[in-house]
Amino acid sequence: MKCARLLCRIKPMARELRSLPSIDKILTDERFSRTAKNYLHDLIVNVIREELERQRQSIQSGQPGDSLDVIIDSIIENLNSVFTPSLRRVINASGVILHTNLGRAPLSEAAIAAMEEASRGYSNLEFDLDKGDRGSRHVHVENLLCRLTGAEAAIVVNNNAAAVLLGLTALLKRKEVVVSRGQAVEIGGGFRIPDVMRQSGAKLVEVGTTNRTYARDFTEAITPATGALMRVHSSNFRLVGFTSEVALEELVTIAKKNSLLVLDDVGSGTLLDTTTFGLAPEPMVQQSIKAGASLVFFSGDKLLGGPQAGIIVGEKQYIDKLKRHPLARALRVDKTRLAGLAATLLHYLKDEAVGKIPIWRMIAAPLKNIEKRANLWAKACDAKVIDGETMVGGGSLPGGSLPTKLVVLSGGGDLAKKLRLQAVPVIGRIEKDRLLLDPRTVLPEEDEIIIKALSDLTDN
Ligand SMILES: *Cc1c(COP(=O)(O)O)cnc(C)c1O
Repeated sequence: MKCARLLCRIKPMARELRSLPSIDKILTDERFSRTAKNYLHDLIVNVIREELERQRQSIQSGQPGDSLDVIIDSIIENLNSVFTPSLRRVINASGVILHTNLGRAPLSEAAIAAMEEASRGYSNLEFDLDKGDRGSRHVHVENLLCRLTGAEAAIVVNNNAAAVLLGLTALLKRKEVVVSRGQAVEIGGGFRIPDVMRQSGAKLVEVGTTNRTYARDFTEAITPATGALMRVHSSNFRLVGFTSEVALEELVTIAKKNSLLVLDDVGSGTLLDTTTFGLAPEPMVQQSIKAGASLVFFSGDKLLGGPQAGIIVGEKQYIDKLKRHPLARALRVDKTRLAGLAATLLHYLKDEAVGKIPIWRMIAAPLKNIEKRANLWAKACDAKVIDGETMVGGGSLPGGSLPTKLVVLSGGGDLAKKLRLQAVPVIGRIEKDRLLLDPRTVLPEEDEIIIKALSDLTDN
């Protein structure tokens, strides 16, 4: 009985498998050849094969096979999806200014123009125009960084994780690096101080307790094998309550007495004083240099507001060693990012950062303007406007936020999905099944797109 039933299933299955169209038949189908004639032939054949294989598997699992029309439609859809860019522009209405999942800092017009210019033609990336000879790619930003931070020298690499890895590898391999236990942290995205330390060949020596570390903890940990004292900014969390940390100045004093380096990973770091914008203090790079850190590490795309980069500023004798280390070659940045970074740094030197760098425009935007925009958005879809908070995010200013006005839509998850599937996806945040949209993190130029997306929502 069992066997007979299997047989009557196998027969139609074999027939269906046999009746699957051949690759040639699909290729010469009129509808198909119209769509596909511009695509690479090998790609088309691969996509057809994949679809036929899917059909075969579905028939073998007992499903009926699809018609030729359905098969061709599905091939065309798959082909088109190959040509839809995966990395797309989105609108960040999430209320997190530096959102790592959404690409962190949007760039200034000048930075974009500089990157475009550097990518279009050739450049003097490593060519000294005066001497007509080989030059260094570091010169294009080093001077600007030194003027802004007061450091003697600077080097830029792929990101801050790379910067810390390079610093430790080049200067502290097989040496001990003393870090407060409260600062041996994980920043997110797999960046953990103990792991980076191990990777570099430096030996992490944790001192103090999770909540309290004193100067004497550092002093007592120093041995002939010690190479550096390190401070790591606890970027994405805050120690509150019964806590004690050692000031950078104190670390410098101890280090000097013992001929050690002081490394300061400030994470985001900032060149502007965040407290003047009503935010919690965030370590300023120029202060670390002034306090005597040997090297300071920070990101290009956090509160600096530039392209992804890892920046190291500090004493020339150490930066020179970093420049010569083979890892620097592996971690180097390309011409477009150097161009974008230089243009971003110029905004600070011209004292126009707050007006020109998008993340600072967002941070500095008056609540009155945000409210006006929120009301316009809300009008498009009959929504309410409530008080809320914008986070700075991106591993900076944990717990620090700015007042904002939020557009509130009920029916959180479904609406959020609809907005994500717009031609230009709009990303909000969901709280208690409500969808919240924050104008502070949206560039004012993008308001029109949001308003259209919102009115489309209520129309359907
Ligand atoms: C964000 C952060 C890093 C990593 O920087 P990336 O530029 O993302 O590689 C390292 N250290 C600290 C303290 C950070 O906040």
